[in-house]
Amino acid sequence: MEREGSNRNSADVVIVGTGHGGAQAAIALRQQGHEGSILMVGRDNAPPYERPPLSKEYLAGEKGFERIMIRPEKFWADKNIDLRLGSGVMDINPAAHTLTLSDGSTIGYRKLIWSGGGDPRRLGCTGANQKGVFYVRDKRDADAMMAALEAGAKRAIVIGGGYIGLEAAAVLRKLGCEVTLLEMQDRVLARVAGEELSRFYEEEHRRQGVDVRLSRGVEEIIGEDGKVTGVVLDNGETLPCDMVVVGIGIVPAVAPLIAAGAAGSNGVDVDYCCRTTLDDIYAIGDCAAHANPYADNAVIRLESVQNAHDMANTVAKAIMGDKQTYDALPWFWSNQYDLKLQTAGLSLDFDETVLRGDPATRKFTVAYLKEGKPIAFDCVGTMKDYVQGRKMLEAGTEAVDREALADIDIPIKELI
Ligand code: FAD
Repeated sequence: MEREGSNRNSADVVIVGTGHGGAQAAIALRQQGHEGSILMVGRDNAPPYERPPLSKEYLAGEKGFERIMIRPEKFWADKNIDLRLGSGVMDINPAAHTLTLSDGSTIGYRKLIWSGGGDPRRLGCTGANQKGVFYVRDKRDADAMMAALEAGAKRAIVIGGGYIGLEAAAVLRKLGCEVTLLEMQDRVLARVAGEELSRFYEEEHRRQGVDVRLSRGVEEIIGEDGKVTGVVLDNGETLPCDMVVVGIGIVPAVAPLIAAGAAGSNGVDVDYCCRTTLDDIYAIGDCAAHANPYADNAVIRLESVQNAHDMANTVAKAIMGDKQTYDALPWFWSNQYDLKLQTAGLSLDFDETVLRGDPATRKFTVAYLKEGKPIAFDCVGTMKDYVQGRKMLEAGTEAVDREALADIDIPIKELI
């Protein structure tokens, strides 16, 4: 599904990026009564769609594109929101309030919202550019993987044991592939979760037939006629395969902003209401480094739909003259096999965990504590804990009785 771009050469609000943050910013502006022109510019050729299904139901063939669109295609025209798809922003001139697009055209803006997300971090080893090496960031990536599977790829090597790698591994198993998962660290999910959750998912993937290899790096991707045939590991072993799926994180897509003078080192810096250091330019979503109250105001980037969505609402309000502090509770989810993980809060810097329930039952919660106070909950199949844990974190937590927290028969709400 592809659309021709708008011919508009200026707009009251220009939004760069047609992903979660960009789409929600446009929706929120209209919901809040913004009457000026809105133009969304995006590199993607497809109208705004949800990314999470790309490593889940869409990749598995369980949901078609129509079902992952953020709004039906006609919504954008109905709301008078122009889409310029298949168009990259190359340069920004903050003094002139203009952007240059990949086709050389210039667009003027009064306010600019940058929601560029990130580009997949690429493998740096020899052979990484061969056919059959896939990243999972946009629809084209998922479509290319699906085409390879259709064409008969059966042996997959997934590089990276973060959420995207694990979700892709689960789908590939479901589709009948032989799957090996390589993780450089000594546990999966090491960047985002505690050891209990990591070990649980490692065991689950092994039970489902994935060959999970920890503390294992990649030396080289080998191939024949430009097509991948195997991966050489850092212990010298060669694993044959038909496809390689890489999920090793993202690099924030902010180059034009930084070149234009915006402050930022890990992404682009934004203030309490998502303004960059450049006049009239806001940034939201995966690329926006902000002081987060749920991380003791440490400056971080969050890569989640919640963050993109809530920052978009904050910016829409700010543009409408209602400058509010972005202080939404972070939450996240991941689906692997029949397991649904829901996370509330940020576990960064936790110093203790409390386990509620038994992972062997495949229903349990890991509570993360810092100085005795809960700061996050990872809930596997424990929806009530998730809902009540969110309330606890939003209410502002005090130190809790660890024994009571560990008792699955005591609802979390009783500890608030
Ligand atoms: P994106 O949605 O990535 O949108 C950025 C857009 O900007 C892209 O279309 C990009 O092409 C475009 N762009 C970049 N630079 C330019 C430029 N110079 N000019 C024009 N356009 C540009 N989050 C969850 O909370 N739960 C999940 O289960 C989950 N699963 C995920 C699974 C996958 C496979 C992926 C990729 C992500 C997942 N995420 C999940 C993360 C979530 O999708 C992102 O956090 C969210 O999409 C961020 O929104 P965004 O607007 O910041 O960026």
